[in-house]
Amino acid sequence: MSQTDMLPAGAKQPSALTSLSAEALYDKCNALARNLWWSWQPEVINLFRDLDPIRWRQLDHNPIALLSEFTAERLEMRASELVLFSRINHAFRRLKEYLAETATWGRTHAGVLGSKPVAYFSLEFGVHESVPVYSGGLGVLSGDHIKSASGLGVPLVAVGLFYDQGYFKQQLDVDGYQREEYLDTKVENLPMEPARGADGKPLTIRIETRNGPLLAKVWLMHVGRVNLYLLDCDVKENRPEDRELTSRLYGGDNRTRVRQELVAGVGGIRALHAMGITPGVYHLNEGHSAFATLEAVRQRMIDSGMSFDESLRLVARHTAFTTHTPVPAGHDRFDGGLIEEHLGPLRDGLGISFEQLMGLGRVEPQNEHEPFCMTVLGLKLSRRANAVSSLHGHVSRRMWAHLWPWRVEEEIPIGHITNGVHVQSWLAYQMEQLYDRHFSVGWEKRMGEPEVWQGIHQVDPGELWETHNTLKNLLLAFVRRRVSRQCRRRGESDESVEAARNMLDPNILTIGFARRFATYKRADLILRDMDRLAAMVTDPERPLQIIFAGKSHPADEPGKQLIKRIANLRRDSRFAGRIAFVEDYDINVCRHLIQGVDVWLNTPRRPLEASGTSGQKAVLNGALNLSILDGWWAEAYDGSNGFAIGRGMQNVDVAKTDARDAEHLYRNLEEQVIPLYYDRDVDGLPLQWIKRMMNSISSLAWRFSADRMVADYVRTAYLPAAGGLSCDMDIH
Ligand SMILES: *Cc1c(COP(=O)(O)O)cnc(C)c1O
Repeated sequence: MSQTDMLPAGAKQPSALTSLSAEALYDKCNALARNLWWSWQPEVINLFRDLDPIRWRQLDHNPIALLSEFTAERLEMRASELVLFSRINHAFRRLKEYLAETATWGRTHAGVLGSKPVAYFSLEFGVHESVPVYSGGLGVLSGDHIKSASGLGVPLVAVGLFYDQGYFKQQLDVDGYQREEYLDTKVENLPMEPARGADGKPLTIRIETRNGPLLAKVWLMHVGRVNLYLLDCDVKENRPEDRELTSRLYGGDNRTRVRQELVAGVGGIRALHAMGITPGVYHLNEGHSAFATLEAVRQRMIDSGMSFDESLRLVARHTAFTTHTPVPAGHDRFDGGLIEEHLGPLRDGLGISFEQLMGLGRVEPQNEHEPFCMTVLGLKLSRRANAVSSLHGHVSRRMWAHLWPWRVEEEIPIGHITNGVHVQSWLAYQMEQLYDRHFSVGWEKRMGEPEVWQGIHQVDPGELWETHNTLKNLLLAFVRRRVSRQCRRRGESDESVEAARNMLDPNILTIGFARRFATYKRADLILRDMDRLAAMVTDPERPLQIIFAGKSHPADEPGKQLIKRIANLRRDSRFAGRIAFVEDYDINVCRHLIQGVDVWLNTPRRPLEASGTSGQKAVLNGALNLSILDGWWAEAYDGSNGFAIGRGMQNVDVAKTDARDAEHLYRNLEEQVIPLYYDRDVDGLPLQWIKRMMNSISSLAWRFSADRMVADYVRTAYLPAAGGLSCDMDIH
């Protein structure tokens, strides 16, 4: 059912704005809530919030859950109290127009994909905090990718898994130690419907293994113009343990993992086939879904009677593969037993031996000791591979050079397309309004163009500063509310709760640091010299405050210890309550942070940050990046659009690297960041700082937008792959 069909048949179009019947009004709100398009429309978000601001917050900004608490009559009463009719009508009309629009960038530039769309595979999708099927950066990137594909009108369908418990919710106990909580998501509150097969019936796919069948049902979620299909093993024909296979993201052992990847890859291709969707391009976002290629090979063999080798070559020409992992240990690897158990029946269909199959996942096909690596499969079964930043491209070419031993490193066929972020999702409403006032008309449709963003230099510095400070105040209120509530939950004293309610000061330079607490990200780099840090934080003239957030993988004990250490700094008298830790980092917490901080800090151990995207989100809202020259920042920093820690050097000695990087970080804060921030003119404006904010926005916002990223994928990967053009990659 298309979104425009959601008005009940025969419902009269109201003639006057105020005469909308209660049911029609309810249906329109429901239609808006059931396409995640709303999640990047401030106008629609504000509409839902206005219906009941408190419940909106309590319900994780989930409009379906919110509407379920209203009857049509109560909704109508509320709408008439608040005079919402014309806003609802307007939003609904805009959604319909958006879905019907044909004059898109994609129509002009990616028309050939029209009947054979890109099939984009990813094991997580972070579209909005109310749809918890993501854990972090990879998922948010996938979400941003499909939102931009929708906006540009690139024909694309997305495939992933539905996790009914998602990733865990993080709570810290009284000692500051991370506790993980898995909550069942209420399916009826999600914007999903059963996907239907060609016969019109809800679709279930089946995969044979050596150890019995695995079944999955398929959900359909509308993300603007993109259909997102999520496979879910919670079907009654499955064995009880298999019904939980897709309950949790990154929740299980290697066997769970291979089974999840089987469902996403092989199951995903089967689902598309059953719905009559014939992809012209397979895009594997990370190696997790690379089994998809094997099923695609099998289907082509059946459909056109090709041999295995012919079919494999053909599928590879239509496949693009993106790698995200710069450390060898980070790639999924499975032993031969797990592979045979799960891919055995598919292997029979392909007519190949166990050794041949294993060879597809090995660097040295004959090496019996080598496990099956999903990244190797992805590289071998695609003719286009890319890393996610320029530096990561170098690292990936070096890391996989042994797959092409006859080539020199520069000729290893792994390119790069640097990640970007979906601007409308991360840009604060107040900033968007400022851009609306000063940028050329229609700028929001041309966000990938550099000229558009030059408009920021015409903005009055005072106006930009004021907007930024409005957002900063909203962030500080958010942090106080969250932290004080968290203190109360832990049973801390009234005094402690009260202190949290008053912590942080809008006049103080505010640094944000939020990301997964993986060791290489070095959340503790800034804590290496506590006295030096305390001196900065409590400087009477030019103080500093820091807001931290982030989850640690449930099995990562060092990560949890680090969180504990940071969380307890709030009560450490040396820091005067100026260091806060906000629990349960997710899209919502991230959005608040990157919209309100002065400085976004990133201190990975180079070159382990493949790209990073949170700093790109910060750029859009005027925050300045202070970062190691790693990932995207290594190609983004130009000397005047933020701050660099160090000069991009690497050392094999980790201890030396960390000591040197910490010294550079402190020196940069003391000599550049702090002086620049507190250097005020007679009106209290930090003019040089504001100039840097403008440089950051004008030089980076367009380059690191997901619109630019998706356009790059279209030009350099999707179009050649759709044409089946072979580039010169051959590893067979
Ligand atoms: C953007 C985002 C990330 C990725 O940011 P990094 O810079 O790669 O750490 C992770 N988690 C959430 C919730 C995000 O919104």
